[in-house]
Amino acid sequence: MPEFCDVAVAVPLDMVFTYAVLPDAAPVVGGRVLVPFRQQRMTGIVFELHDRKPAVTTKTIISVLDSSPVLDDILLRLAGWIANYYLAPIGEVCRTMLPLMAEFKRSIGYRITDQGHTTLHMAGMSGSSARSRRTPEEQIAEFAVLDYLAGSDGELVREQTLRSATRVSRKILAGMVRKKWLAREDVSAPQDAKRTIKIAALKLVEGKLNDNQRMLIETLSASGSKLPVESLQGLEIPRTTLGTLVKRGLIEIIEEPADFTISRSKPRQSPFDFDFNFNDAQKSALNGMRQAVDGRKFSGMLLHGVTGSGKTAVYLACMRAVLEAGRSAILLVPEIGLTPAVAADLHQMFGDEVAILHSALSDRERAQQWHRIRRKEARIVVGTRSAVFAPVDDLALIIVDEEHDSSYKQEETPRYHARDVAVVRAKLSNAVVVLGSATPSLESYFNAKTHKYALIELPDRVEKRPLPEVQIVDMRLEFQDTGHEQVISRKLADEIKDRLERREQVMVLLNRRGYSPVVLCRTCGRKLECNNCAIALTHHKREHKMICHYCGYTAPVPKGCVHCGSEYVYFLGTGSEKLEELLHGMFPEARIARLDRDTVRGHEDFERTLSALNEGELDLLVGTQMIAKGHDIHGVTLVGVVGADVALGLPDFRAAERTFQLLTQVAGRAGRGQSPGKVILQTYFQDHYAVQYAARHDFIGFYEKELQFRRWMHYPPYSALANVLVRSNQLDDALQWSGVLGKWFNGTRHEGVRVLGPAAAPIMRLKQDYRYHFVLKSPSREKLNTTLRSMLSYAGQQKIPRTQVIVDMDALWLM
Ligand SMILES: [Zn+2]
Ligand SMILES: [Zn+2]
Repeated sequence: MPEFCDVAVAVPLDMVFTYAVLPDAAPVVGGRVLVPFRQQRMTGIVFELHDRKPAVTTKTIISVLDSSPVLDDILLRLAGWIANYYLAPIGEVCRTMLPLMAEFKRSIGYRITDQGHTTLHMAGMSGSSARSRRTPEEQIAEFAVLDYLAGSDGELVREQTLRSATRVSRKILAGMVRKKWLAREDVSAPQDAKRTIKIAALKLVEGKLNDNQRMLIETLSASGSKLPVESLQGLEIPRTTLGTLVKRGLIEIIEEPADFTISRSKPRQSPFDFDFNFNDAQKSALNGMRQAVDGRKFSGMLLHGVTGSGKTAVYLACMRAVLEAGRSAILLVPEIGLTPAVAADLHQMFGDEVAILHSALSDRERAQQWHRIRRKEARIVVGTRSAVFAPVDDLALIIVDEEHDSSYKQEETPRYHARDVAVVRAKLSNAVVVLGSATPSLESYFNAKTHKYALIELPDRVEKRPLPEVQIVDMRLEFQDTGHEQVISRKLADEIKDRLERREQVMVLLNRRGYSPVVLCRTCGRKLECNNCAIALTHHKREHKMICHYCGYTAPVPKGCVHCGSEYVYFLGTGSEKLEELLHGMFPEARIARLDRDTVRGHEDFERTLSALNEGELDLLVGTQMIAKGHDIHGVTLVGVVGADVALGLPDFRAAERTFQLLTQVAGRAGRGQSPGKVILQTYFQDHYAVQYAARHDFIGFYEKELQFRRWMHYPPYSALANVLVRSNQLDDALQWSGVLGKWFNGTRHEGVRVLGPAAAPIMRLKQDYRYHFVLKSPSREKLNTTLRSMLSYAGQQKIPRTQVIVDMDALWLM
């Protein structure tokens, strides 16, 4: 057995840690181990076993948690790729890939020290010390802790037990540890009892044996002296035999981690009776995908299909083919795409062979699904972002539905993009990756046009239904004609009235939640901002609160200006809550519901509202971008778009692309049934190309125009781009650190890499942090990566904490 192992531990450091291996422990590469780290116990993943003695003294691993890898060779390589490409600590990458945290229980214990006993004794004799700076309450609390621990005979008492018995805070316990009255120990351990099995191990053979006993011992020695107790029970000997041998010391019962790799795959009847009635374009798309899968080589495809063209049916048919071939497939969907109805469809189609991973699962449920997939009980995996790491066997196909959706990008460490990780995983696995969308990202379409991916197109809606007619309403003219700012134009109001009379359904999009987004003082001109962020608070009328949409901070609704005391405060602008109220006022007879993050707490709420719309129990649905995504409601014949162009005013190079995608997607909700659809698009930017091309359903036109802009500005896909954010809750630190890094960027040569900044981030303060940033661009990803890596190592030398310098590779937001 090698003497050392390198372990990735989930801490913000870009390295693995070397530990000594106990002689009888047998860690495996890709398996978990429990290790001491600083004053704690942590789980980590073994990356390498070796005999290279490190220069520093090493600690020894505490225990081996897995007898077979939880990350197989491909997933380990994928972890390495993510850590390298996104400049993320490898241990944090592994933690993200493995939803097994529920199997490890954090546990801290305390015991009383000799000094603690002395203190307790003194306190009993003389009362509290007069010189103490502690309050009487603190002294009483400390006394209670010492008394409790003294009463437990020096045994270790778990923090939870101690705190519920004495009601002291963690802070007081920490103070007592500093004074050396208590000893603190981390006794964290793996939790899941199901994951260990009892093993009978042969120790020695001596003395007389009866027939049953001999048979048991012979069976054991024939199988290498070790067998699970469970399998000995098939021997048709009395159960007491084993017990007797254990008592005599011939056999020992030990617990070992259960092996995940035992396959329980069972013969399966095809549960499918779906009859796909495909048009020619769908047939040829499916054929293309199936041929690529059969080729067992890496292949990337972009499926560009207009809204309503039947992409989902093609995905499902291809996944079915993969399953029938005995292989595995993963379907990634955006966060909001996985409703219970979708899940029900999937169960009907794939039976028990499908594992569904959505954000509402608890840690434990997530771990259970993970084990099901690992045991090959589920070969079809459908889920949001992190499902790209599902431990499937013999991966044949990964589909990324709505590949342009920004929920695929994780906005915390590791800041990976699940679409791009899916492509790399497919490469490592010789599998096929299919990216699908009606509005592909510029990057993906560019890759298809430059033949990195095959391009498959579904240019028509199913059953030759027409795309909806889009009419633009110029809100500047509306203002001139009516003399005041309108939320709902006269045209949109007329069309809604008309649909309601015809008993057809309407959706109105306003991509901003709350009642009014800004409270302004007319005397001093200042806004009411969040205490933690440089962001205006939004008025929420029903909750009667001011809420920050970035950090959740709430404040009472102000009666006057908080800055100057003036009573002339104005609530400006319109959010979805106010829009709903306005529509109720305009159409009192209509049944209206709203869909946004305030009305939707979980998938059930979302589903309930959508199914009410589907059943015809609603006439009008108001909502944020949530209403734009992927639903197929046949009764909707009118879509109104209010204020969807706000993003065009933001300092973000992706603003046009996002606006085009949102407008196209929401327009795509209209006319999916028998009656043709219509879209009324209200805008203040009627000449903007994103608005014009969306109104004409012209993706190619938009793509070419936008590509020109990206080329001029050296933005993706012509350059790789990274955002480097320097943050601190102390303004001085943020300024100083960004200055230090700015000087370093200026003073060092980075051939082929442009560095912009440091500059204050557009949102200069967020969640109590002051923020400065750099934007780096380079046509070469390698050069960009090298520059960023040396920047991080310089930051380390300058003692800038690793957690305060955030590298966001392929950043979607520069805010
Ligand atoms: Zn004021
Ligand atoms: Zn805030």
